[in-house]
Amino acid sequence: MSDEVPAGRPCPRCGTPMYHRHCKYVCPNHGVIYDCADTFY
Ligand SMILES: [Zn+2]
Repeated sequence: MSDEVPAGRPCPRCGTPMYHRHCKYVCPNHGVIYDCADTFY
């Protein structure tokens, strides 16, 4: 329930603050932007 924490990182597409859920960054508008499978880290 409360594992969605505002991460303070804006979505690169729309600038909306993304949520950090488990090891994923989720935009409320676009869905998952990054996850821990990405080499972006
Ligand atoms: Zn977005």
